[in-house]
Amino acid sequence: MFLLDPGVRSNTMFGYQNWGLVPHVERNRSEMEASIIERVKSAENLPSLPTVAVEVLRLTKDENASANDLAEVLQNDPAMTAKLLKVVNSSMFGLSREITSVKQAMNLLGWRTVRIMVLSFSLVEMMSSDEGGFDYESYWRQSLTTAVTARLIGKAAKSRCAEEAFVAGLLSNIGQLAAFQCAADVYQPVLEAARESEKPFFEIERELLGVTYAQLGASLLDGWGLPESLCQAIGAHLGDGLDSLENEADQIGHLVHAASALAGVFCRDVPPDQLDAAKASCMKETNVTQEALEEVLEGLDDAVRETASLLSIHVGQTCNYAQIQMEAMQHLTQLSMQAEVERQTSQTKANEALQEADRLQQENQVIRKKATTDALTKLPNRAAFDEKLEEALANAKKTSDRVGLIMMDVDHFKKFNDTYGHQAGDEVLRVVGATIATITKGVAFPARYGGEEFAVILSGEAADSISLTAEHLRRHIEEKRIEFNGETFSVTASFGAARLQAPAETLTVEQVIEQADQMLYKAKENGRNRLELAA
Ligand code: GH3
Ligand code: MG
Ligand code: MG
Repeated sequence: MFLLDPGVRSNTMFGYQNWGLVPHVERNRSEMEASIIERVKSAENLPSLPTVAVEVLRLTKDENASANDLAEVLQNDPAMTAKLLKVVNSSMFGLSREITSVKQAMNLLGWRTVRIMVLSFSLVEMMSSDEGGFDYESYWRQSLTTAVTARLIGKAAKSRCAEEAFVAGLLSNIGQLAAFQCAADVYQPVLEAARESEKPFFEIERELLGVTYAQLGASLLDGWGLPESLCQAIGAHLGDGLDSLENEADQIGHLVHAASALAGVFCRDVPPDQLDAAKASCMKETNVTQEALEEVLEGLDDAVRETASLLSIHVGQTCNYAQIQMEAMQHLTQLSMQAEVERQTSQTKANEALQEADRLQQENQVIRKKATTDALTKLPNRAAFDEKLEEALANAKKTSDRVGLIMMDVDHFKKFNDTYGHQAGDEVLRVVGATIATITKGVAFPARYGGEEFAVILSGEAADSISLTAEHLRRHIEEKRIEFNGETFSVTASFGAARLQAPAETLTVEQVIEQADQMLYKAKENGRNRLELAA
C-alpha cells in the first residue's frame, strides 16, 4: 500500500505545527528504529486531540464513569451528537425505530459502542485535514474498507468486538500519516523504495526502518491513551505478533488482519487473484462461515460508501464484489492467455529450430555433394568411387550378391591434348563423362577415377550384363561427335572389366581394382577401343 505523496511535506496534518523534524543525518538501523518510534511518540504530548476524544478517553479509563458522563460530554458538542444520531439511525445498525437522543442510543446499543463511535468520529475528523502531500482518498479508502469489513465480519461471526474492530480498522494505517509527519527525512526513502518495489509496503519499512507503520500507529495511539486492546490489535494487524494477542485484542487483531487483506483486494492494492486466498484466511481466522462472508462481501461496497458519507470522508472510486470477481476472472484468463502465448512462442521457436536443422542438413548435402563430385564432368569423384566400391563389396559379402567393375581410359589422350589443346581435351572429358552418366543412369554407379580414366560399379543383376554395358559404353563413345571451337572431334576408349563370383569370393577393393586395371592394360595392348573381361 502506498498512500503518501512524498513530494510535498505537510507539518500541519494533525492540526499542530512541526513535530520536531530533525535535520537528516546518516544513522544506522537500530538508531533509526529508535528514533522514528521516539519521534512518532513525541506527538503524544501535543494538545492536539479534539476535546471530545480526550474526554471519551478519560471516561474509558475511569472505572466509575457512567453513561451519564458520556451524555454530558456530548451535550457540549452538538455537531458530534448530530453525527452520532445520524449514524445510529443509518442502515449500519438497522434499528427499527428512530433514535432521537444520545441516552436512547446508549440504551439500545450499549454505552461501550457509543463511546467507541464517538472516539472514532472525533479522531477521523482530526485526521481529515485537506493538507497537501498526502493521498487522503487512498488512505481512507483502505482504512474505511478495512473498518467496515472488520465490523461486518465481526458481526457475522458474532464477535463482541465488532465495533472495536471498526475503530481499529479505521486507525490501522495511522502510522503512515504519523511517520510521514514526524520523520519525513527517514520515511521518504521508504516511500521511494516502495515505488520501485513489488514487495508489500510494510516489508520495505521493516527492511529500512526495522519497524512497520502498524507498530508506529500502535505506539502513537498508545501514547494518546487509546484502550490497550485496540493498540495491540492495530500493532499486530499486519500479522506480526498476531498469535500472541489475548482476549479482546486477539479478536480485534484477527478481524482487522483478515479485513485488511480483503480491503487490499477491494482497494486494488493487491491483484484480484488474491481474493480467494484472502477469503480463505478470513474464514480460518474469524470463524465466519462462507455463506456469511459472501453476504458481507456482496454488501461491502454499499456499506463503505454509506459509512464514508455518514463520516463525511472522501474515499474516491470504490468497487463492488461483482467487479472484483470479474477482475479476478479476467486476471485468470489473462494468465492462461499469457501461458498460451508462451506456448505458441516456444512452438514457433521449436519450428524455427527445425527449419534451421533442415537448412543445415541441406547445406550439409550441398557441401557433401561438392566434396564427392568431380568439377569438370559432374560425375562422382574418386573419393565417392572408393566409398561406393567399399560399400558394394561389403554388401555383396552380406547378401551373396554379384559386383562388377569397369575401368576405362581414353585412348591416346596425351596426343589429343598435344594436338588440339587442353581445352579441347577438357571438352572431350566432359562429353565422355556425360555419355557415361546417360548410359549408366539407374543401372550402375559411374565415377571419374582420375585424369582421362573413368570407372563404373555394377551391383546385382547389372553385374550380370557387365560386358553388354561396357560394350554399349565403348560404342557410344566411339560414335560420339564432339564439337569444340567449330571443329568436330571423336575419341575412343579402352575397357577392362572384372566380375566377382559370388558368394565365395572375398576380394578387397584394391584387388578388384587391380583385376579391372589389368584387363584395361590388356585392352590397350590388344589394340585399344576394345573391352577385356577377366575370366
Ligand atoms: P593411352 O592410350 O595409353 O591411354 O595414352 P594416353 O596418352 O591417353 O595416356 P597417358 O597416360 O600418357 O596420358 C594421359 C593424358 O591425359 C595426360 C594428361 O595431360 C591428360 N589429362 C589428364 N587429365 C586431364 C584433364 O583433366 N584435362 C585434359 N585436357 N587432359 C588431361
Ligand atoms: Mg591413362
Ligand atoms: Mg589414356
